Amino acid sequence: MKIRKLRCYRCGHVHDILTYDLLEYDHPQILDGTLFSVECEMCQTMNFFDYPIMIKHPELLIAYKNENQEANRWVYSQDDLIEKANILKEGFDDRVIEILKMLFRQRVIDTPIVHFTQANNDLLEFRVVKDKKYQLFTQSLFAYDNLVLKAMDLIQQLSLNEKVIDYKWARENIDKIVTHLYHKDKH
Ligand SMILES: [Zn+2]
Repeated sequence: MKIRKLRCYRCGHVHDILTYDLLEYDHPQILDGTLFSVECEMCQTMNFFDYPIMIKHPELLIAYKNENQEANRWVYSQDDLIEKANILKEGFDDRVIEILKMLFRQRVIDTPIVHFTQANNDLLEFRVVKDKKYQLFTQSLFAYDNLVLKAMDLIQQLSLNEKVIDYKWARENIDKIVTHLYHKDKH
C-alpha cells in the first residue's frame, strides 16, 4: 500500500490517496467502484485516477494494466476489472459469463459494452451501455447452468493458456460453442 498525492482538478485541493499493489477480490473498494476515484473534501467533485494493480482470488490472479506472467487473467479497463471481481464474488466463472454475454448480444442487444453486475435470486444482472445510456439486462441462472453443464469442457479447452477473457475471446469462440450446444441438444 502506498500513499500518493492527488490534486483536485477543479479546486486544486491536494488529497492523500491509497494505492495498492495487490488486493483481495472481495475488497469493498473494488466492488463499490471507489478504488479509482475520490470525492474532493473541499468541493465535492469526483476525481478519477488509474494505476496498475493485481487482484487475488484463491483460484485466479488478475492483473490490471500490467502483463504479469504469473497472472491467469489480464484486463485493461477499470470496468472489466470490477466486473471480474463481481463475477468472482458471486462464485461464477468469467469464461461462462463472457459466452453468455455473447449469446444475448447476438440475440437481443447489439452492443459490445456489457458488464455483469450481480446475481439476484435466479437472475444474473448485466449493465449495458447503449446510445451512451445505461440499461439493465437480465439473464436466467438457468442459461448459465446450461452452459456449464453442456459446454464447460469445451470452454476450458478454448481458454487454455488464454489470459485475456473478454468480448474478443468470446466472439472468436462463440460459433464453436453454439455448434457444440446444438449437437448436445439434438442427441
Ligand atoms: Zn476540489
